[in-house]
Amino acid sequence: MLISENPFTLRTKISRHYCEEKSVGFVPTMGALHDGHASLVRRSVAENPVTVVSIFVNPTQFGANEDLDTYPRPLEADLALLESLGVDYVFTPTERTMYPQGKGNYELLMQLRSMDKILCGAKRPGHFDGVVQVVSKLFNIVRPDRAYFGEKDFQQVAIIRRMAEELFFPVEVVPCPIIREPDGLAMSSRNTYLNAEERRQALFLSTLLKRAREMAGSGNSVSEILELGRRLAEDYSLIRLDYFDIRAGSDLRALDEIKAEDAPRGLVAAFCGQTRLIDNMALL
Ligand code: AMP
Repeated sequence: MLISENPFTLRTKISRHYCEEKSVGFVPTMGALHDGHASLVRRSVAENPVTVVSIFVNPTQFGANEDLDTYPRPLEADLALLESLGVDYVFTPTERTMYPQGKGNYELLMQLRSMDKILCGAKRPGHFDGVVQVVSKLFNIVRPDRAYFGEKDFQQVAIIRRMAEELFFPVEVVPCPIIREPDGLAMSSRNTYLNAEERRQALFLSTLLKRAREMAGSGNSVSEILELGRRLAEDYSLIRLDYFDIRAGSDLRALDEIKAEDAPRGLVAAFCGQTRLIDNMALL
């Protein structure tokens, strides 16, 4: 497994595989890897002769009051896991190698017009601009044939797919299902922030989505299901609901009726103590 923090070294090493016509699979991450990340990596290893994983906590996608400085960075453990999964290349850039011009000093800005004005984008202004900025850099460095993203970040997958389409990136964006703990909590690097009581109450998110799915299945309306979010949050003293919404699975447009053809999806974000968690589920 080759590990490099230098974009040019990495690209030179990978480029021989393009000549060999081997497909390159890519899994971008921020590290602190868990089984959710591992599922993406396993899929890439199974589907491509060459797999590249990046580990980079991208500063431009964090807001001023967010957890950039405290985000976990257990690099040694991450590398051991990736080696055991059969990864070929790990890209571990520094802020300096990714943004050599310096933060806030780049000429080119990427800005979304509408897809980031809803859900997490509305709550974290600028977050998805930072995501498309870093993912477009990563796509240009790695030049993958397939890139694997978790549906845990449902809005992110939709935005990356749209970015790849609009910019003609020759990459197939592959969405992968959410991996959960046995009790239903969606795996997340941020779950390590939770104390025992917060961990218990974090089940609010998956419980809400499962109940929403039951309600959708028995013919309840969008507004009845949304009301459940507010009511259920009252039973959880450490939960502060950030949003709960129901949107079309294909393009995240707002829905006023539950119909199978729209692939309705429940999406939730909530603070559990100080930790912001997200989750989503197909409702039909
Ligand atoms: P992150 O390190 O949080 O940026 O996540 C890197 C990739 O792993 C993203 O595509 C995430 O959607 C995906 N991911 C994170 N958690 C999970 C999970 N529980 N199940 C599936 N994919 C996940």
